Amino acid sequence: MNKQNIPKKILHWYDNNKRSLPWRRKSTKKQHEYFTLVSEFMLQQTQVKTVIPFFIRFIKKFPSLKSLAGADESEVLKYWEGLGYYSRAKNLKKTATKLLLEHRGSLPKDIEKLKALPGIGEYTSRSILSIAHNQPYIPMDGNVERILKRIFLLKNKDQISKKNLIEKKTFFSISKRPSDYAQAIMEIGALICRPILPICTSCPLINYCKAYKKRDFAITTKNKVNKTKYFEANVYKHKNKYLLIKNKKFNFLKNLVIFPMNEIKKEKFQLSIDKKINVKLSNMNMKIIINKNNKKKIIKNSLLLDKSNFSKFILPSFTKKILNSLPHLE
Ligand code: SF4
Repeated sequence: MNKQNIPKKILHWYDNNKRSLPWRRKSTKKQHEYFTLVSEFMLQQTQVKTVIPFFIRFIKKFPSLKSLAGADESEVLKYWEGLGYYSRAKNLKKTATKLLLEHRGSLPKDIEKLKALPGIGEYTSRSILSIAHNQPYIPMDGNVERILKRIFLLKNKDQISKKNLIEKKTFFSISKRPSDYAQAIMEIGALICRPILPICTSCPLINYCKAYKKRDFAITTKNKVNKTKYFEANVYKHKNKYLLIKNKKFNFLKNLVIFPMNEIKKEKFQLSIDKKINVKLSNMNMKIIINKNNKKKIIKNSLLLDKSNFSKFILPSFTKKILNSLPHLE
């Protein structure tokens, strides 16, 4: 099989099928860098279709690196609300400030300098280098992994190890249009080589694909097991207002607004007859008992809010879930 044509086939498919995404719209070099930076932060842990409306709203509010660097963190968080994983928003703002102060407002072209910026790791630095700076990197996201697993029919633990997948990535070779090429491969994974029901008849790689030959599209994944932790949330209500606090206590979702909470033992959770909810965060499953308490309570630096005021604050998903469960407790 002639592999020399692979980049040509992939780019031909991309030129005819790529999605019109707001961060891909024609712009100046500086804007293109800024759009890439913001979109890559938003796309960490979040799907393209979810990110689109947030990106548009965010860029309308913070149209340039300078406007983002000069904004209050609370305002940046407000425009991130609903996307989750708020540390990304804080790091994005810190990175914008550092870029202005230390890199004359440009994204470095050196991988180590990029990785030294807050919130930019191995994957994001490679995405930025290929997409914004046209360097020949193909970042290994879930889409690229899936394509490789199917092309080579990789099934067992050793075959799907990171090391082996990186070796197999040489299959793609390099192209004269690195920025488009990296996006094209990821786009094929997102639109064609989908997790379920891949559209092989539209795929430019069909002639190279072992999964297609065997009609075996099942994907082996490394299962990530999240820890389960148990909590007790205390809901104090006084004259239709709820007592909430800024989270200074737990190392996750710092400074966001939560009900006063304690971590408890599994046994206490199991024995409790109070209302219980489950919430999945990126790195933890939370099991929460909701204690309803009508007595007024004074807690230093707490907030007394009625429901109409909630929109002014950043509420993590578990605070919202607790609030949504409250009418059932009335
Ligand atoms: S032929 Fe099908 S399974 Fe193979 S890479 Fe293309 S879409 Fe994926």
